[in-house]
Amino acid sequence: MSREIEVKSVLNKTKKRDDWFLDDYTLNLYSSCSFNCLYCYIRGSKYGTNLEESLSVKTNSIEILDRQLFNRAKKNQYGIIVLSSATDPYLQVEKKYKLTREALKIIHKHKFPVHIITKSDLIERDFDVLHQINKSAILPTDLKSRLNNRGVIVSFSFSTLDDKVAKIFEKGATKPTKRLKTVIKTKEEGFHTGISLMPLLPFISDTTEHLDLLFSTFKTSKVNYVLPATITLFGNGSADSKTLVLNAIRKHFPELENKYLNYFKNGSQMPTYYKKAFTNKMKELSIEYDIKNRI
Ligand code: SF4
Repeated sequence: MSREIEVKSVLNKTKKRDDWFLDDYTLNLYSSCSFNCLYCYIRGSKYGTNLEESLSVKTNSIEILDRQLFNRAKKNQYGIIVLSSATDPYLQVEKKYKLTREALKIIHKHKFPVHIITKSDLIERDFDVLHQINKSAILPTDLKSRLNNRGVIVSFSFSTLDDKVAKIFEKGATKPTKRLKTVIKTKEEGFHTGISLMPLLPFISDTTEHLDLLFSTFKTSKVNYVLPATITLFGNGSADSKTLVLNAIRKHFPELENKYLNYFKNGSQMPTYYKKAFTNKMKELSIEYDIKNRI
């Protein structure tokens, strides 16, 4: 059950654009996330163990966004708006509330570019508005040639291509096989489309075999880029990502429990030697499959 709330501000200006996601602004029309990924970085006591139960809908966000974008456009402060940084813009409730669709219309009205990051097939519903943004958005000068003057970037997040594994770690999201069909459609529509492999799951989706499956699949889908990242797990509380992922490993992959405990015994990050090997492997795959590792 989602809660309806009103907010005073909905568009957030980032301090500095991140080179991976190119976010000048972030926009979260929902608070919390019913896709419920166990590894999600928003996890913690604020939202509880089941993120769906703390989901809020920012019902007045469209009029607030309209005002905020009007003010930014007036000052010529055009920049890429990332939807979303702390939820998915295409949650199940979006079918009812259509906040993302209405926000995209407002974004088009003010001529801002967007970067959509999603694990859902519902984005197909909004291809019409995204085409309008793609044609008319005003891009930051330094990104015009890099993005070929197009105003829409779409990144689909995957942690695995295996539907059974996804059901354990990201049970509310569109299953990977269906998500992949949407990747192909999005690319066929002509949008700048890529993959965020964030995060890959150690010993599950970072194996040589699964990496080859991922990269060969995305090569066939003709995506423009693949952005890979290692997993980060926080906290020891019952609603924290480290606890939830370790519980899932214990239950579904007991043979990996000691390896995971060893990796995360001293903190939230994978060990440095793993990260270095991971970076090198991703560079190799990017060259081998001729897929860019940056947008
Ligand atoms: S889709 Fe993104 S925001 Fe939602 S739970 Fe998964 S990782 Fe978190």
